Amino acid sequence: MRGVARFLKNLVRPEPLAPMVIDAGGTSLPVVFRKNANARRLVLRFSRDLSEVRVTMPGRVSRNEAMAFVNKSQGWIEKQLAKRETQTEDPSRVLFRGEEYELVYTGELRGLISIDLPQARILVPGDKAHAPRRLADWMAREAKRELTEASHRRAAEMGVHVSRVSVRDQKSRWGSCSSSGDLSYSWRLIMAPPHVLDYVVVHETAHLRHMNHGPAYWRLVLKHCPNAADAKDWLKANGGKLHRML
Ligand SMILES: [Zn+2]
Repeated sequence: MRGVARFLKNLVRPEPLAPMVIDAGGTSLPVVFRKNANARRLVLRFSRDLSEVRVTMPGRVSRNEAMAFVNKSQGWIEKQLAKRETQTEDPSRVLFRGEEYELVYTGELRGLISIDLPQARILVPGDKAHAPRRLADWMAREAKRELTEASHRRAAEMGVHVSRVSVRDQKSRWGSCSSSGDLSYSWRLIMAPPHVLDYVVVHETAHLRHMNHGPAYWRLVLKHCPNAADAKDWLKANGGKLHRML
């Protein structure tokens, strides 16, 4: 009987932190809830790729209160989605190693992508329709070279071993580290200033020693990258922009 009662109770009242799905202007949007004893109030924000809404709940807030808060925020959520969808970057400009360049599609049939430093231009040959794709591939190659070199250098400094370095175009994170020592990065880090790329490399390489974000891990990161906080702030403020270019 008690088992049945508990079953019915769970049917009526779902787990306090079970995710829900809301309809935001025709888009089904998952909402995930997180308890945080240190939070002072309910906070609602988007994941970086806008694929879900995250609600932080202070210790004493109930699921019903959190859901009421989500309902009340519906208008704001829809407005944010609409705003981000129309937000685009100037297609004739691009960031590379933290500097802004004008993109020039030369239309020349042959030749390699080159940088005209004095005039801050990147010259891309080939037909215009495929030029952005070609530029993205070129940047991914540059990123792989730089991230591989930096990862091995940092690993040697920390006395750890890197197996393989790869680059991808994943939206959810800038880097990851597997237990077998493989490091993977977003190639878009090549657009960011060098100290930001370096921080992500230190962050991932340090995981080869500590597979967590504990105090010893952060001590190691800060020892090798004293500006970690600046780099994190830069990514928070500009990360979305990197994903909207190319
Ligand atoms: Zn990490």
